[in-house]
Amino acid sequence: MDDSALVDGVRVDLRHWIDGRRVASAGRFSDVSPIDEQEIARVAAGGAAEVDAAVAAARAAFPAWKAASPAERGSILRRAADRLDARVEDLAALETRDNGSLLRSHRRGVMPRVALNFRAFADYAEKRLGHPGLSVRGHRERITYDPAGVVAVITPWNAPLMLATWRIGPALAAGDTVVLKPPEWAPLTASLLADILHEAGVPAGVFNVVQGTGADAGAPLSAHPGINRLAFTGSVPTAGAIARAAAPNIVPLSFELGGKSPLLVFADADLGLAVDLAVDQFDNAGQVCLKAARMLVHESIAGEFTDRLVERTRALCQGDPRDERTDVSALITRAHFERIDGFVRRALADGARALTGGGPNTEKGGLYYRPTILTDTKPGDEILTEEVFGPVVTIETFDDEDDAVARANDTPFGLAATLVTGDRARAERISHALDAGTVWVNCFFVRDLEAPFGGNGRSGIGREGGPWSFDFYCDVKNSVFSPTGWEG
Ligand code: NAD
Repeated sequence: MDDSALVDGVRVDLRHWIDGRRVASAGRFSDVSPIDEQEIARVAAGGAAEVDAAVAAARAAFPAWKAASPAERGSILRRAADRLDARVEDLAALETRDNGSLLRSHRRGVMPRVALNFRAFADYAEKRLGHPGLSVRGHRERITYDPAGVVAVITPWNAPLMLATWRIGPALAAGDTVVLKPPEWAPLTASLLADILHEAGVPAGVFNVVQGTGADAGAPLSAHPGINRLAFTGSVPTAGAIARAAAPNIVPLSFELGGKSPLLVFADADLGLAVDLAVDQFDNAGQVCLKAARMLVHESIAGEFTDRLVERTRALCQGDPRDERTDVSALITRAHFERIDGFVRRALADGARALTGGGPNTEKGGLYYRPTILTDTKPGDEILTEEVFGPVVTIETFDDEDDAVARANDTPFGLAATLVTGDRARAERISHALDAGTVWVNCFFVRDLEAPFGGNGRSGIGREGGPWSFDFYCDVKNSVFSPTGWEG
């Protein structure tokens, strides 16, 4: 069987990357593109043996990588960033074919941000990481950031390279070594990343990739006694399984999980802006953790907002994500497609009404699901509380600020919230009251890499970004120096 495949013009190795070399497995798993449900590759299916080898390699490489200065590590990581920039077209083509997300988003936003995940964290570790220190009763307290060791990174399929490098960038910059387990539904860009980091000079064993399913490769990695940190992005049930597996080893966890975020539109909002932000929620066919799935609109403007949103949603172009004109593509797998259809069918059976969409796109066939707007829901309905992770939004109305905030916060999640208002004082009040790790006011999806990111409640554990990343990927040490006891 071939060790590599040509996927939309990009040659990609299908084996693991362990200790600076390619490693095959006896078994393979099938990688199917959501665009046309065709198999595009058969990828090495790793298990406990490959995980053991990767963790051993990462442990062996750790002392030298730790001993390198932040400037030495930084120059390698900045070289990696340059190479990632130079291969944006290849990375974009591969990711699009693999997970069905829009080629134009990868070209213009996602892949440049992947390079930034290395550049920005390398710069931070070199120039900004540190603490001025303290003193108590004449004792000097020196606070340092020691690399923690081996970091396991487990990632989802919806933005695999972006979400992997957002963890790998700061981990490597901090002086840790990494074992990445990519998602089995979109495993290919991780393999290209291994090539690029190698070419940039990342030493053998510092970065490793074990391909495979969650059960066969993710589970032994989570339970491995040789890891020192575990960064996971994915669903709540998997997070629970990982937490149980990692618990006996007392491994610190960073979890970025699901959401059921609201978009609040107040009566004084710029309605054009509100509709623009609402339409954005169909990006990546709604398979975005931060997506605002629940539109909460003041009753005085709900009619006009709804009419305009329905009109704009009907005009969205659905189809092949490689076509620049496409706005909404396919869903990742048949199982995910059925799951989303199940949510919509149950909502309709419970009395909800579809203002547009409400089922598969039969003209396109395959895994294409129509952008769907549901209304006439009731508080507590499944469609208002469970993460759907597809091109489905609901519209509810509120009558005052308290009602808006109560509805917005009425979920077990707390990842993000967006509000649209023309009143600055209201923006301040509501942003304080919302239970979310990120609140966007009159905007969406804007964030500096140094700002904290993470979720409350079932949306996760911890924050990453800037100093928060280094708090997680380092063992922060306080050394207290007495003023006495010195010679001379
Ligand atoms: P998932 O939890 O099914 O899988 C994520 C990863 O975990 C995959 O690599 C999978 O192989 C692995 N895995 C599965 N079972 C495992 C086990 N028992 N032990 C170890 N690893 C295991 O999630 P998904 O369907 O790939 O992604 C969608 C979810 O991710 C959604 O809930 C979404 O909201 C969330 N997400 C969150 C963020 C965020 O930053 N908060 C970003 C993107 C996606």
